[in-house]
Amino acid sequence: MNNFKYIGLDFSQSQILSLKRKKLLLWTFTILCVFTLVPLAFNHYLLGNHYLAFALMAFFVCLLIDAISVQVNNMFIIHPSLVAFCLVVSLLISIYHLGVAAVFWFYPIVMILTFVLSKNTSCFFNVVLLAGLAVIGSSQMQLELMLRAIISLAITWLLAFLLMKGMNNLAEKLRQASTEDPLTKVLNRRQLNRTLEDAIALKKRHDITSTLMIFDIDHFKKINDHYGHSVGDNVIINVCNLIKSITRKEDILFRLGGDEFLLLMNYSNVNEAEYLAQKVCNAMATIDLAIPVKITVSIGLCEISTDLAVQDWIDAADRALYEAKASGRNCVKKQTELPSLSLH
Ligand code: GH3
Ligand code: MG
Repeated sequence: MNNFKYIGLDFSQSQILSLKRKKLLLWTFTILCVFTLVPLAFNHYLLGNHYLAFALMAFFVCLLIDAISVQVNNMFIIHPSLVAFCLVVSLLISIYHLGVAAVFWFYPIVMILTFVLSKNTSCFFNVVLLAGLAVIGSSQMQLELMLRAIISLAITWLLAFLLMKGMNNLAEKLRQASTEDPLTKVLNRRQLNRTLEDAIALKKRHDITSTLMIFDIDHFKKINDHYGHSVGDNVIINVCNLIKSITRKEDILFRLGGDEFLLLMNYSNVNEAEYLAQKVCNAMATIDLAIPVKITVSIGLCEISTDLAVQDWIDAADRALYEAKASGRNCVKKQTELPSLSLH
């Protein structure tokens, strides 16, 4: 079975729709088929076009099963490629029975395949559709008509593809703009609450421990004042890149603002986090800058606790950072005991 996110209705090419919208679209299409495709299949059965009737019904049944399974568990039981296969076969048989009249259905189907399936799968089925039209149509339609149909369908496909690509690029840019810090490209504050809520939920359900590390560059204002804002920016970027190179891929880095960052260390207790934090402190000396300044950071740590709210957790790590600053900077402090007022 496939995960709903993994295949077509991600919709892998169209990331612009929310899951709820995709479900709604799937049901709208399924219900539309009840009133159009099902009577059509019966009609073809009565007319003796049995293969066409069976192919149409196979498509409808697959679609209905998937609509139900997606609604219930967000998963496809029947792979969308098989559903698309039934649709494409129905169309090709309809060319055989109806000739040029069936071509009108090709246009929306080419667009649906492009919008709903992944790039490679939709390319495959659209090629099969056009090639099938050329082969079957050659005996059912005039050559000139068939060529017009194939060329106009290819243009429709290309336009749908470009439209989809443009919309996805736009969606990706919007996602980046709303989630990434433009200077360092790490996540910004917007993503923080939800990520920390997830970590707390993991602790509650599966006892998975995470630790927060908040760090702040020491005397950063002096760098700005002496060397200018753009040199300061460069320091922030270098510090950020260094942290990214040291940490694991499970760790998630956020810029809280200014020269302050937060690293969520998933699957790490405070002792493991302390080891990494010490490594970060030591590694700062390796940052190669064009200015004669030694960069240091102060770090505060706080391990997760089940009865902690997100803001309390951040505040606790912040208090540890404050302690590190107060202890002379360039050091790591951990918050082990949480004040009773932060417990719920
Ligand atoms: P401390 O050791 O106590 O942290 O001292 P500090 O000088 O680093 O003080 P603080 O962390 O409060 O200074 C943050 C400074 O960072 C203040 C602000 O002018 C500067 N800043 C904030 N955002 C940016 C940025 O995007 N680029 C640059 N270059 N500077 C920034
Ligand atoms: Mg600072």
